[in-house]
Amino acid sequence: MDLTSLGEFGLIRRIRRRVGPGCGVVRGIGDDCAVTLPAPGSAILSTVDLLTEGVHFDRSFHPPRLLGRKSLSVNVSDVAACGGTPRHALLALAIPPGTDTRWVDGFMDGFLAVAREEGVTLTGGDTCGSKGGVTISVTLMGEREPAGVVGRHGAREGDLIVVSGTLGDSATGLELLRQGERDLSHPCIRRHLDPTPRSRLGRLLADRGLATAMIDVSDGLLADLEHILEESGGGAVVQVEAIPLSDPVRRVSSDPLDAALSGGEDYELLFTIPSGRKGKLEGVSRESGIPLTVIGRVTGGQGITLREGDRPLTMAPSRGYDHFRSG
Ligand code: ADP
Ligand code: MG
Repeated sequence: MDLTSLGEFGLIRRIRRRVGPGCGVVRGIGDDCAVTLPAPGSAILSTVDLLTEGVHFDRSFHPPRLLGRKSLSVNVSDVAACGGTPRHALLALAIPPGTDTRWVDGFMDGFLAVAREEGVTLTGGDTCGSKGGVTISVTLMGEREPAGVVGRHGAREGDLIVVSGTLGDSATGLELLRQGERDLSHPCIRRHLDPTPRSRLGRLLADRGLATAMIDVSDGLLADLEHILEESGGGAVVQVEAIPLSDPVRRVSSDPLDAALSGGEDYELLFTIPSGRKGKLEGVSRESGIPLTVIGRVTGGQGITLREGDRPLTMAPSRGYDHFRSG
């Protein structure tokens, strides 16, 4: 069966049947507006992401269930980077009418699985036909008390720059997929198709008041560090030998360092901490189960300087993804 037989409202009913009541949801799918209540004392953190077929994903190798997972996970990652708790999501879909309903069911399986894992309720959305490919837009509302929200603007000269997990895995996975590799259990391919947002880690860092600035690595380490510096002021020195690379990236990537510096979509957290609080990292790493690595320092200068040992790095790495320039 395809969507022409199901119809727009058939599809909405099919989605609605799968969504139960949610915390803070006064009215969910079915009305003109969703009505939701934040926890007392909480500010609402809103984020939206747009995923377009041919730009963000390739349906020929991205299984619908994993694409559904990723569509919500990338938004959960934004809320995590602010130290928030994700709560309510809106899902807008543009789908070619000839699409098999099994594709949409698979997509919703993945989307709703991440919603369950992260405590998110789907409260509404919009559905329309597409004359091109599939376009997915997810709006996610999270919450946190306003004083505890971490932004990109708080990094100060002397702060240490820290990154969670490993970098370059997603770009390496995409490189493999483009070469025709289809082993979905390959860790790099998995990371590209189904990234794990660092929700618990983001909240812990905010709870402890440890991160002075934070961002999730979606565009690539250099581009995302630059975003922090733009908002905070100052420059940075990054020691390239300290950048955490996984074994598969070292073994498989055609250029592991470039994958780590410029490949995006790892959805790790990049954050700064006062240098005197370095000793607190180990406890947070243990509690969250995610390795944390100091890769550099915020300086009073401008721009990002890459260093290998005590020598400046001479390579000119490609920059992160820019939708109007890359591709
Ligand atoms: P409207 O005409 O007011 O935009 P719709 O007929 O598009 O309303 O949607 C009916 C209800 O279904 C609304 O509550 C809307 O939020 C919800 N909805 C529509 N599409 C989706 C979707 N893809 N996922 C979740 N809820 C949806
Ligand atoms: Mg509508």
